[in-house]
Amino acid sequence: MAPCLSELRNAETIVLIIGGGPVGIAAALILKQRTHIAPVIYEAQLEPTTIGGAIRIPSNGLRLLRRLGLYEELALRGSRETNVVLHSVQGFVIGQLDMISWSEKRTGFGLLKIRRSDLMDVLYGAARKAGIQVHFGRKLVEIEEGDQQVTAIFSDGTRGTADFLLGCDGVSSSVRKLYVDSDIQPEYSGVTDIYSLVPTYDRPTPVGMLSGLHVTFTGAGMFAITSATRSSDENYWFFSTASPSPALRGTSDGREEQKLRHADDAQAILRDALKGGQGEWGDLLRDFAEKSKTVRFHPVFTLPLGGVWHRGRCLLLGDAAHAMSPHSSQGVSMALEDVFLLSRLLNRSSLPLKDVFKTYDQKRRPRTEEIYRTAKDLGKMRKKTGPWQLWLNELILTMVLYCYGALNLLKLGIGQQPMVYDIEKEEL
Ligand SMILES: Cc1cc2nc3c(=O)[nH]c(=O)nc-3n(C[C@H](O)[C@H](O)[C@H](O)COP(=O)(O)OP(=O)(O)OC[C@H]3O[C@@H](n4cnc5c(N)ncnc54)[C@H](O)[C@@H]3O)c2cc1C
Repeated sequence: MAPCLSELRNAETIVLIIGGGPVGIAAALILKQRTHIAPVIYEAQLEPTTIGGAIRIPSNGLRLLRRLGLYEELALRGSRETNVVLHSVQGFVIGQLDMISWSEKRTGFGLLKIRRSDLMDVLYGAARKAGIQVHFGRKLVEIEEGDQQVTAIFSDGTRGTADFLLGCDGVSSSVRKLYVDSDIQPEYSGVTDIYSLVPTYDRPTPVGMLSGLHVTFTGAGMFAITSATRSSDENYWFFSTASPSPALRGTSDGREEQKLRHADDAQAILRDALKGGQGEWGDLLRDFAEKSKTVRFHPVFTLPLGGVWHRGRCLLLGDAAHAMSPHSSQGVSMALEDVFLLSRLLNRSSLPLKDVFKTYDQKRRPRTEEIYRTAKDLGKMRKKTGPWQLWLNELILTMVLYCYGALNLLKLGIGQQPMVYDIEKEEL
C-alpha cells in the first residue's frame, strides 16, 4: 500500500531526481529548504548542459528565484534592461514594446536576461552549499517499482533506490519514455533557432544602440539581439526560422557534425535575408550574422498537450512534462512553478503519494496549457513571408503599436497578466 507523506516524513525520505537541468536543481533546492526529504540528483552528462546560450526570465519566475534565495546573485550576472525595439530589415524603427512595466509594478520584478552557463553556475553553487549530492555521467536506462520503493538503473550498471522519483530530464525524458507515458513523443515545432554569444569587444557598437532587446523581422524569420550580462560585455543573438524537420541520425559525434552543417545552412539563410538591410542598422546586423565564431543550432521540439504526468512513485516536471515553444520565455519559470507547487503539496498533505501527484496534476495543467498555447502562437511569427506580406505585417504592427501608445493600452496589462501569477497563492 502506498505510504502517507506524514509516514514518509518521519523516516529518512529520499527522492531520486533524474536530470540536472534547471528544474532538477531547483526541485532539489526547494525540497531541501522546505521539506524533510533528501534529494539525490543523477545527470546523464559529465557536466551541466547549457543549451540555448542565454535565456530570459520574466517576473513570475524571478519572484520564485528570490524565494529560493538566488535572485540577487543572478541579478549581479544578468542584464535587467527591459526595453524592446522592433526594427524592419531596411533599418527603420517600427516601434517600441513595453512587455514588462505593468507586471513589474505588480510584482516588484522585471525581466532578467542571463547566460545559461551563469544560471546553471548559480544553481549548482547553491546545490553544493546545501550539500545536495549530484552524480554526473549517470544516464537512466530502466525504472523498477516495488511496493515500498522505486529503483533507477543507470547505463553504467549502478542503481539508486528511493521513496519516489522525479523525472526532470527534459523534452526527450527517459522517465517518460521508459515508465510514465511511452505513447507521447516530442514533435518538431517547424521552427529552428540558431544562436551565438558574441563578446562586445569583438564588435564595436555605437553606445546605447543595443541596450535591451532588438528584434528585426526578415522574410525568412525573426532575428534578435540582446545584452546577456550585467556589464554588457557579451551580446546574444538568435535567429528563428521556419524549416523542415532536420533529421539528426547516427552517433552523438555524427549528430554534432550534422548540427554544425545545419547551423551553417541557417546562417546562410540569415545572411541572404539581411541583404536588403540598409544604413548603420543593416551593417550591424550583417556584422553579427557573418562574423560570429560559434553559431549553435537548435531545432525546437515540443510535447503535445494531454500526456500522462505521473505513474506510481514517479512524477514528471518541467520540460519532461510540458515542453513548450521557447518563444514566450517561460520554460524555466514554468519549471520553477512546478517545483514550488510540489513542495507545498508534499509538505502540507497527509495524502498518499498518488493523491499528491493527482492534485499536483489537476492544479498545474490549466496554467501550463495556457502558457503553452501563447508560446505556440508567438512561434508563428517566425514563419517565412514574401516581401509584400512582410511589408503589410510591418505596417499593421506600426499601427498597432501607435494605437497602443496613443490610447495608453499599457494600463490594461495585455499579455502581461500571466507574469503576475503567483503559484504560492494557488489554493490547495
Ligand atoms: C533555443 C532555446 C531558447 C530558450 N529560451 C528560453 C528563455 O528565454 N526562457 C526560458 O525560461 N526558457 C527558455 N527555453 C526553455 C528552457 O531551456 C527549458 O524550458 C528548460 O531548460 C527546461 O529545464 P529542464 O530542467 O526541464 O530540462 P533541460 O534543461 O532539458 O534539462 C534536462 C537535463 O536532464 C538530463 N537528462 C536527459 N536524459 C537523461 C537521462 N536519461 N538520465 C539522466 N539525465 C538525463 C539532460 O542532460 C539535462 O541536463 C529555451 C529553450 C531553447 C531550446
